[in-house]
Amino acid sequence: MSNERVVVIGGSVAGASVVNALARGGRECEVTLVSADPQFPPYDPPPLSKEILSGAWPLERARFRTTLPPGARVRTGTRAVGLDPDRREVFTDDGAVLGYDRLVLATGSRPRELRTGAPLPPRGVHRLRTVADALALRDALRPGGSLLVVGAGLIGCEVAATAVGSGMDVTVVDPAPLPLLRMGGEPLGAFMAARHREHGVRLFLGSQVREIIGEDRVTGAVLDNGTHIPCDAVLMGIGAVPETEWLAGSGLPVDDGVVCDATCTVAGVPEVMAVGDVARWHSGRFGGLLRVEHWTNAVEQAAHAGRNLFEEPERRTAFDSVPYAWSVQYGLRVQVLGLADTPAAVVQEDRASGRLLCLYGGSDGLRGVVAVGRPEIVARARRAIADRTPVDALSWAA
Ligand SMILES: Cc1cc2nc3c(=O)[nH]c(=O)nc-3n(C[C@H](O)[C@H](O)[C@H](O)COP(=O)(O)OP(=O)(O)OC[C@H]3O[C@@H](n4cnc5c(N)ncnc54)[C@H](O)[C@@H]3O)c2cc1C
Repeated sequence: MSNERVVVIGGSVAGASVVNALARGGRECEVTLVSADPQFPPYDPPPLSKEILSGAWPLERARFRTTLPPGARVRTGTRAVGLDPDRREVFTDDGAVLGYDRLVLATGSRPRELRTGAPLPPRGVHRLRTVADALALRDALRPGGSLLVVGAGLIGCEVAATAVGSGMDVTVVDPAPLPLLRMGGEPLGAFMAARHREHGVRLFLGSQVREIIGEDRVTGAVLDNGTHIPCDAVLMGIGAVPETEWLAGSGLPVDDGVVCDATCTVAGVPEVMAVGDVARWHSGRFGGLLRVEHWTNAVEQAAHAGRNLFEEPERRTAFDSVPYAWSVQYGLRVQVLGLADTPAAVVQEDRASGRLLCLYGGSDGLRGVVAVGRPEIVARARRAIADRTPVDALSWAA
C-alpha cells in the first residue's frame, strides 16, 4: 500500500525519533505528528536539569535534532483526547479527527503529584519536565535562597547539585533510605549521598513531606516527624506517571503504561505501536514487562518502531536493547546499564577520585552495571550484558 497514513502522538524525544526514522527510511507515507507542546522540534529533556538549569548552555543548544519526512504535518499545541482503534481514528482537543493506517503512541510521562491533603501554595512549587518548567526553576535559583527538593531520584538529585552550585541552601527529602535507589541500587545511593553531603546538601532520608506551607507562595514544609524546613522554593521530583488517561475507553491494554509485545506492538492491535516512557513492553532479555524512563530507551525504541511499522506483525523484530541511563552531578558522570535490581558486587569504590563500579548478576550472566567516573567501560559493559557474559569472566571489570 503506498501513501499510508502514519499518525504519531507525542512530539518529544520518542515522537521526534519516530519521524527521524521515517525520514531515513524513505518510504512514501503521509505523516502527521500531534504534540501537546507548543514547539517542534522539541527541547531535549536531559539538559533541562543540567546545562539549561545552570545557565551553562543557551536554550537553542538543547533542541533535539529532527528531520521531517517530505510533506509531514506537525500539529503543535494539540492534545490527543481519544482513540477509536476499530475505526482507526484519533480525536484531538481542537475537534479534529485523524484517520490512520499506522499509529505510534509516544505520549511519554508527566511528573507525579504529591498528595498532602491540602492545596499547594500557588507560587514557588516547581516541577521539571518542560523547557518552561526549567526556565521558571532557573529564575528561582538565587544565591542565598533556599530550595527544598522533594524526591531523591535522578531529577531531584541533579537539581539539588545544580542549585547548591548556584549558592542555594538545599534540602532533599525522600522516604527511601538512600538517593537514586531505583536508578542504581544501594552502592550508588550511598556513594552519591556522600557527595551531596560533602557539597552541603542536607538529606532527610526515610522521611516524607506531610505538608507544604505557604498561602500566596511557599514558605516551607513539615515532614512526617514534625521537622519544619523553611524554604523559598520547592521542586517536586517524586517520579513520573505514564500519559495514558487519554486512552480511557479505547480498549487498548493500559497497566502502568501501554502494554506491548516484544516488538513494541500494542498487544492485540497490530497497527498501533508504543515507544518511550509510555510503553511497557515484553523484554525477552529480562523476562517480563519493562517500562523504562530514560532517554536512550526512547530514542532506540522509536527508531526500532520506525523500522518495523510497515512490516506485517509476524515479521517485526523484538526490541532487545540493553537499557542505558546517565546522570551528571557535581561533574561526576553516573552511568547505569541493564537493571540494577539484584544484590551488587562492588568492584571499585574510590570516593576521593569519584569512581565506582558495581556489577549485577552472577554465573548465569551479567544483568546490570553501575559506573561512576568510568566512561571507558560503558560499551564493553553493554556488550557483556547483551551477551549474558558470566560475571566472573569479565576481565575489564577487575
Ligand atoms: C528534566 C529531565 C532530565 C532528564 N535527564 C535524563 C538523563 O540525564 N538521562 C536519561 O537517560 N534520561 C533523562 N531524562 C528522561 C528522558 O528525557 C525521558 O525518558 C524521555 O524524554 C522520554 O521521551 P518520550 O518522548 O517518551 O516522553 P516525554 O519526553 O515525556 O514526551 C512526551 C511528549 O508527548 C506529549 N504528550 C503527552 N500527552 C499527549 C497527548 N495526549 N497528545 C499529544 N501530545 C501529548 C508531551 O507534551 C511531550 O511532549 C530526563 C527527563 C527530564 C524531564
